Amino acid sequence: MIPSVLPTYSRAPLTFVKGEGSWLTEADGRRFLDLGAGIAVNSLGHAAPELVAVLTEQANTLWHVSNLYNIPAQQKLADALVDKTFADTAFFTNSGTEACELAVKMARKYWYDKGDTARTDIITFSGSFHGRSSAGIAAAGSQKMTKGFGPLLPGFIHLEFGDHAALTEAAKSPTVAGILVEPVQGEGGIRPMPDVCLKGLRDLCDEHGILMMLDEVQCGMGRTGKLFAHEWAGVTPDIMMVAKGIGGGFPLGAVLATENAASGMVAGTHGSTYGGNPLACAVGGKVMEIIADDAFLAEVNRKGGIMRQKLEGLVASYPDVFESVRGTGLMLGLKCKATNTDIVKAGYAQGVLTVPAADNVIRLLPPLNISDDDIRMVVTLLDKAAKSLSSE
Ligand SMILES: *Cc1c(COP(=O)(O)O)cnc(C)c1O
Repeated sequence: MIPSVLPTYSRAPLTFVKGEGSWLTEADGRRFLDLGAGIAVNSLGHAAPELVAVLTEQANTLWHVSNLYNIPAQQKLADALVDKTFADTAFFTNSGTEACELAVKMARKYWYDKGDTARTDIITFSGSFHGRSSAGIAAAGSQKMTKGFGPLLPGFIHLEFGDHAALTEAAKSPTVAGILVEPVQGEGGIRPMPDVCLKGLRDLCDEHGILMMLDEVQCGMGRTGKLFAHEWAGVTPDIMMVAKGIGGGFPLGAVLATENAASGMVAGTHGSTYGGNPLACAVGGKVMEIIADDAFLAEVNRKGGIMRQKLEGLVASYPDVFESVRGTGLMLGLKCKATNTDIVKAGYAQGVLTVPAADNVIRLLPPLNISDDDIRMVVTLLDKAAKSLSSE
């Protein structure tokens, strides 16, 4: 008999009943250090007091009104995002997938309004992840996600991650509207696009007048130690998708864009019932206030540096379990020699949560405000997990 919850996830036998900071408590009382943070979502940890306060205040005031009316919390969050990023404008969604949908629509409408109606294709890369909607799976293009769900939304050109020659050639096509890429692939296994490649991508887009579209759903909102990962490369996109960390655990996403890239999205061209609702934006506004702060981001860098160094030590101690460390800031990955899912399970037994990714990697995406003590604990627990698998 089919379970009452559609069984599309194979779930770990863990039931968390309470969260506090970087820790979760299981129904049986065991405590777990959470290096998954709901897959890079709980950017300020569980039950962050500042977020609980704004959410509670907003909940006692006004939950939902519809985008038919002005929403002050939404306006405030949009102003903050425009102030701190390349963007001139923002549209709010409830998820990264919805942000992907709008990003694709926006890019196509841009060219349609310019009269260049043939430009509908978006170039994407192997190993990418852009959500599970029809556009999202067509964009990423991997068999694992698309098999059985055809016909797929047309208009995506799939290239091999890192194949510069193919990209240079594909970008020449008069059917290309934009290039969509994650500055650091998350699901793909913490695979950063080198700064020089992001710069090259910007140049390529400028050369052909096409749109540079970034998916910073996982790598954005302070995760890499800058507010957005592309800032490391010193370039700016035309369109960017944001979600996960921006809500700190409350469902919230956004598409940010330049005035030019967004020019086609006039009244009536897009909408959302819940997107940008007062509850989500009250929380998102507070998350932005805390994370988009130089001192906070400097701490993410410092902590990321410590954690990375300690992980390098772990790799050296267990060469039969781990191969190398990847990533920047607090978006770190351990490329494994043992099977990544076995290491994740061994972590469960020691009270530490990590998340598997493609390319036999485990992801470490702790709350951005994880304490130094907890970082030390990360290594203690992962060491125990590795020892339980190691033959050395
Ligand atoms: C998680 C993720 C998405 C999809 O976000 P949802 O909120 O799950 O819809 C899209 N892109 C990237 C890079 C992601 O990590």
